[in-house]
Amino acid sequence: MSNFAEKKPHAVLTPYPLQGHINPMLKLAKLLHLRGFYITFVNTEYNHKRLLKSMGPIPFDGFTDFRFETVPDGSTSHGDDVSQDFQSLRELIRTNFIDSFRELLAKLHDSSKSGLIPPVTCLVSDSFMSVTIQVAEELALPIVLLIPSSACSFLSALHLRTLIEKGVIPLKDESYLTNGYLETKVDRIPGLRNFRLKDFLTCIRTTNPNDSLIEFLIEVVDRFHRASAIVFNTFNELESDVMNVLYSMFPSLYTIGPFVSFLNQSPQNHLASLDSSLWKEDTECLAWLESKEPGSIVYVNFGSTTVMSVEKLLEFAWGLANSKKPFLWIIRPDLVIGGSVIFSSAFVNEISDRGLIASWCPQEKVLNHPSIGGFLTHCGWNSTIESICAGVPMLCWPFFADQPTNCRYICNKWEIGIEIDTNVKREEVEMLVNELMVGEKGRRMRQKTNELKKKAEEDTRPEGGSYMNLDKVIKEVLLKQN
Ligand code: UDP
Repeated sequence: MSNFAEKKPHAVLTPYPLQGHINPMLKLAKLLHLRGFYITFVNTEYNHKRLLKSMGPIPFDGFTDFRFETVPDGSTSHGDDVSQDFQSLRELIRTNFIDSFRELLAKLHDSSKSGLIPPVTCLVSDSFMSVTIQVAEELALPIVLLIPSSACSFLSALHLRTLIEKGVIPLKDESYLTNGYLETKVDRIPGLRNFRLKDFLTCIRTTNPNDSLIEFLIEVVDRFHRASAIVFNTFNELESDVMNVLYSMFPSLYTIGPFVSFLNQSPQNHLASLDSSLWKEDTECLAWLESKEPGSIVYVNFGSTTVMSVEKLLEFAWGLANSKKPFLWIIRPDLVIGGSVIFSSAFVNEISDRGLIASWCPQEKVLNHPSIGGFLTHCGWNSTIESICAGVPMLCWPFFADQPTNCRYICNKWEIGIEIDTNVKREEVEMLVNELMVGEKGRRMRQKTNELKKKAEEDTRPEGGSYMNLDKVIKEVLLKQN
């Protein structure tokens, strides 16, 4: 180890093992590396294999002091290119993970004693991996929790227990979801104005009084107060109302995003060659976009975990085709429940001059391509923030988890998106795609998205709110000696 490396602080970063959690954690790792940290990034064995398969060998040329470690994922049953099951991942975290993590830190400690790496000085974990707080306490290390979702969905998660205590969860009947304003069921929750139960985390849509997902989330939330700090991949300008409520609940809370915007402004987009895609990216779609008019393409992508019936997929397909707008549609191999879909020759002929379908793409590059004019999305938080940072307005079809909450804010608070009904119909898709791409509402949404994009850039420049918050987290939390 060089003398230089010896002096470096050493952060161990642990994402939850899903694509939408690994991506923001890797970005945060790059930001800390840029600020002089030695990085150990912890993946599950299965995900690490997938990363190597999709990216090829990790491109370590040109940078040092950034390494990967793995922990067992406790399962050997995963096939190729399947989304992992949230429930079994949760069980893994609850049961095996903490011992593997302790062993890993002991191994890192031994390596540091031999002078191979600097001693571990701090931990950064995904909020779903808050079990790591226990290890941080044992080793007297500072620990920062990264919330990979929006502040608004975080705030709603904090109130799960209230909903149980008030007898709202488990839901008594469907009507709670169709017309249930939160305020009519429980006292108003500060920060969640005009919030409907259908906008809440979808885990509340249960009739089971002992729902294991709700139990897991409550366990996670109960540990938050023991973290040294909690950080969000959002910016104050975007979620100030919610953040103001949260600041009064937690002493050490920081908005330090959007990470995309930070990295876009870093010298040569710091460590750009280091990617975290679990699927192999189809880069030919970028060449296809090159031949298209500015702002003309609808980009359609439902993220890494959404699934849908073949009937719904066909409604989207014909809605897109009938809109007559050119589109790039990413259909993951496991997007359709029960297997892949084969489109009819009528559909293929109809879209042949204007539609491209691929299985996975470099989303940030796509969103930032000048030809993209709108994004039909499932409202995952990463997709939302990436779309804002690219100035691209959205059509929203939230599927599960925090996506309905994000959708509510996108459409009603920030006014940069339009929601598509859960029970999607082709006529609606056709109409809304046209509204998004060439309608007056679409134009206004584009303007507002661009305004937010500028605010995100300002917040992540030196003197900006997120920039100064990141400085604070580093100096006052991660570099603090216990
Ligand atoms: N993503 C990608 N290519 C794709 C689809 C998704 O690179 O074809 C990335 C996307 O940029 C985002 C992440 O995968 O960073 C998906 O996270 P998100 O929170 O939007 O949704 P999730 O997959 O967790 O539902």
